[in-house]
Order: sequence, then C-alpha cells, then structure tokens
Amino acid sequence: MTNTSKRLLLFTGKLGYQTRSFEEAARKLDVQLVYVTDRCGRLEDPWGDHAIPVHFETPEAAAYKVMEEFRSQEVAGILALGDQPVVGAAYAARGLGLTGNHPAAVEACRNKLRMREIFRDAGLPVPWFRKVPLHPVPEPALLGISYPCVLKPLSRFASQGVVRANDREEFRAAAERIGRLLESAEIRATHDANLNDLIVEGYIPGREVAVEGLLTNGELRVLAIFDKPDPLEGPYFEETIYVTPSRLSRSQQLAIEKCTRDSVRALGLTHGSAHAEFRINDEGIWPLEVAPRPIGGLCGRALRFSLSGQADPISLEELLLRHALELPGADSPREEAASGVMMIPVPKSGILEKVSGEDDARTTQGITELIITARLHDYIAAWPEGSSYLGFLFARGDDALEVEHALRFAHQKLAFTITSRMPVEHPATHRMTN
Ligand code: ADP
Repeated sequence: MTNTSKRLLLFTGKLGYQTRSFEEAARKLDVQLVYVTDRCGRLEDPWGDHAIPVHFETPEAAAYKVMEEFRSQEVAGILALGDQPVVGAAYAARGLGLTGNHPAAVEACRNKLRMREIFRDAGLPVPWFRKVPLHPVPEPALLGISYPCVLKPLSRFASQGVVRANDREEFRAAAERIGRLLESAEIRATHDANLNDLIVEGYIPGREVAVEGLLTNGELRVLAIFDKPDPLEGPYFEETIYVTPSRLSRSQQLAIEKCTRDSVRALGLTHGSAHAEFRINDEGIWPLEVAPRPIGGLCGRALRFSLSGQADPISLEELLLRHALELPGADSPREEAASGVMMIPVPKSGILEKVSGEDDARTTQGITELIITARLHDYIAAWPEGSSYLGFLFARGDDALEVEHALRFAHQKLAFTITSRMPVEHPATHRMTN
C-alpha cells in the first residue's frame, strides 16, 4: 500500500469476473482492495494482503470482526456484492463511521414478505400477498389464494424457486417442489432463517424492466433502465436478455425512475447501489423488488461509463469504486452506445458435456464478448431449481433493437450438449432456440 492509496473493503461471497474487474479498477486508481469473504480458501490474494474470513450468515459478527481488524487503520470505503454480504457490509460501515445504508433497511430487502409490507404501507402498488407454511402445504382455498399466483421463497435466491401457479394442483406441486429445494444441502448451507415458509402473491402481468441505480446520501441517480424483451410469464422466471437504453416512452421511463425513487425511499436505502425490478402494465408500475447491491455478477459488464477527458469508457466497478471513495468521475454518464447481455438459459438439468458454436457466436456482428461460465462435465440445474446460467453473451450497437437481434442471432449459433445425470443413457443434444 503506498502512502497515498486508500483502502476499500469489498464484501463478497463470490470471486470471479466481477471481483477481477474491481481488482483492475483498484490497481488503476491506486486503491488497496481488501476482501471480506467467506471464500478465503479459494482466494488468490493478488495483493499479498490477507483477506478477512467471515461468515455472512451472522452479519453483526462479520462486521465486528472487520472493526477489530481495522481499529487503528484507516478504511476509506466499503462495497458489497451479493444479497448476503450486503448485510454485514452495512453493519461494518456503521461501525467504521462510513456512509452507508442503515442495516435495518438492508435486512428488510432480504425478506420478500417484509418488502411487500413496506411497499404496501408506503402506498406503492403491490399484489395481494400472503405468508404460507411449507410443512405441511396447506389447502390454498382455505387461505383465499386466487390464480394466477406466484410462489417464492421468503429470501431472495436469484429467481431460484420462483414458480407461477394457475390452479390448485399447480399450487400444491409448486409448494412441494420449492419445499424440496429449500431442504437441499446447498440452500441449508446458507443458514437462512426463512426456509420453512413461502410468500405467495398475485401474478402481475406486463412487461418487465430492471433499473440500475446509485444513491448518494439519499439522492438516486438512475444509471440505466434495462428492458427485458423476452416475455417472463412463467411457470419459472429464468432471466434472458437485458438491453439498455429502454425502448419505453420517455414518460414511462420517468414513471419508472419515480417508482424507483419511491421504492428506495420506502425501504430506507440511502447510499450505494440499488438494483430494482419492475412490472409495467395499464394499472401502473409495480415494484417487484429492490436489492441494495449492484446488478449481479457478469451482467455489470454491459454497463460502461464515459469519464470526461478520457477516451476509453470505464467499467461499472470503477464507477462504484470512485463513488465509494468519493473520487471524481462517479457521476460519469453511461456511454452512448446501446448495450445488452443475454444470460444464457439452461434448457434442462443435467451434465454439460459439450459446447459448440462458440467461435461463430463470438464473431456475430455486434457481439463483444461470450463467456461460458458453466464448467464442462459439471451438473447444471435448470430453473426453478437452478440459479446459474450457462454463460453470458454481450453486444453493443447503435440501437437497442440491433443489440437484441445480435444477442438472439449469436445465441442460435450455440449448441449445448446436456446429458441426464443418472443413468447416462441417451445423450441428447439440445440446440437452444429463443
Ligand atoms: P429473486 O429475488 O429470487 O430474483 P423475484 O421476487 O425478483 O425473486 O422474482 C423473480 C422473477 O419472478 C421476477 O423478475 C419476475 O419475472 C417474476 N415474478 C416474481 N414475482 C412476480 C409477480 N408477483 N408477478 C409476476 N411475476 C413475478
């Protein structure tokens, strides 16, 4: 660490593309990045500094450990990635006297029932919603459930376990399926306290958008509104394409910005990233959820910003570092080009045996990057049990439609061979269409 460099703590449960992008930005800005993570065993430790090992499921203890570590040393900023690490980061920011969200506001965002109550109490549009026990699954008619409805775990798990039901049979099958998912070792390992109940709510028809925002002492700046051009009508809600700028009318975009502002205010979020999802229909703008963190994982690569006086755009991660450390440039606007990402859907659960067509997809006009994140010979789960995509395609172009077409065209060139897990009988090549 040089005399001039500032220290920034990055709370993260995942190490990969996004953290490497933070490392690059930190190097460029002469910032010392210290990881606070539950993945210490997997850390390369590029700075020769030791990461701080914590358990994110006990956020106050995680924060206390960080405070102990830095009692006599300066910390200039804190950032967090992922739904669990943000809570510990909020407590730590408090303890270290740094600007950040109130921990209670961040905790509220972890619980989908609490979030609905907050939106309802703030007068924001919410569907009917109800907490429902999983063991045993109750008779929906006795609870006054109407259809279509959406069942989901109380804690957020990247659309994992979110299922639409159109009638009683689908309701019961979905509840049992989510119950089994929440019993899985992977989810039990999160030590989440909300695994015995579900939230069930009215299905909101309409188009969906995602908003990437950045709060500075209560003031929201919308960095981008992403259209999601594929219909997300269920029964499962795997994401596919995000494209910005939005093709919605100016007045609809202003209404979305206002709804984002109202939603973050209702939740009490005041500082740092906010990633929000909305449904839009004739009745208005419906906040689905707000997360006090940046857009997940690799999707951030779809966002670049024009730093004044610099020819090359900067990454979202660099913008966030500048914001957290109050360095100039945090107000840089998004670049002019239209940009998009496809989270490559998982057509069926099984072992990923082969990927072909990568070169063809990569050289498709408008495609800037293809990253296959699923590992060959590993098991990959389709939604609703799944939570990771096969990979990510990125495109840029003059307008959003061109970007969307490039993503779809490149995707058609990819083929994934996925075989059933057990027994391996008839390997089926699944050509993906969209
Ligand atoms: P997660 O935080 O796990 O991603 P969400 O509550 O955001 O879970 O739900 C994931 C997706 O499921 C949403 O992006 C949306 O497409 C769909 N969805 C969730 N709730 C509803 C609803 N009430 N009506 C329609 N679609 C919904």
